[in-house]
Amino acid sequence: RVIRVSRQGMQSTQRPGQIWCLRDVTQQKLSDKMRDQFIDTATHELRTPLSNIKAYAETLVTGDAIDVEQQKEFCNIINSEVTRLARFVDDLLSISSMEMGSLSIDRQKVDTARLFSEVFEKVEPLMQQKQIAFIKELPEKLTEIKLDKDKIVAVLVNLLGNAAKYTPAGGHVTLRVKLDQRSLEVAVVDTGVGIAAEELPKVFDKFFRSADERVQEEVGTGLGLSLAQEIVEMHGGEISVESVLNQGSTFLVTIPLEGAT
Ligand code: ADP
Repeated sequence: RVIRVSRQGMQSTQRPGQIWCLRDVTQQKLSDKMRDQFIDTATHELRTPLSNIKAYAETLVTGDAIDVEQQKEFCNIINSEVTRLARFVDDLLSISSMEMGSLSIDRQKVDTARLFSEVFEKVEPLMQQKQIAFIKELPEKLTEIKLDKDKIVAVLVNLLGNAAKYTPAGGHVTLRVKLDQRSLEVAVVDTGVGIAAEELPKVFDKFFRSADERVQEEVGTGLGLSLAQEIVEMHGGEISVESVLNQGSTFLVTIPLEGAT
């Protein structure tokens, strides 16, 4: 059974009075759980890299019984832990600007080919590491369009990164892009763990992470999709998901281009 979830999609099937009732109760219930989840995530995402950095830096400082090769290895570990920490801090800052209503987008003319090559540079190492076949279906003509390049790159890196993270080794991830004067449409299709029907409406919630152990064993903060949704909606677009548990997921982003200034 394929279930499709998007903000507009969900609302259009309900009568207005009913939605508000339903949403109030669920949001109240969620907020305690979300707070606990936030504290767990923040503790883990701050403490783990910090204690690794401290341990490796201390060993480097004392220089006890380590050769040049090991020094290099420790520096690499410190570097990747700093990257992880910086990513989490960036996500937190973006989420708090989003809460304060001060997250803004800056639409500029963008060479679409460059936009995608920036995305590929960031996600290809992950695909290779996990031996995932990355299939790109791009239109022949990649014209210039107007959008906030850095933010849209972040959205696509998040979707493709998730697809790679939640797809077992040997699986497939497909990026399907359609582009015309009216809109940019991007589908990210994976053959991964999928999302259970009851969890599907929550995937865009802040700090939501599936209870599925195949998700829990991956590093994550549950912030990526809620930021992605905000960025896409600030471009006047829509993001939605379809998924079948144990078969895979498809995330679809549509960004209108007509009249973009
Ligand atoms: P993170 O990946 O850091 O946990 P996200 O906000 O990007 O946070 O995603 C929220 C949750 O949605 C994930 O924890 C996972 O449960 C689910 N999810 C997102 N993308 C996928 C996917 N491609 N396949 C399966 N589950 C996914």
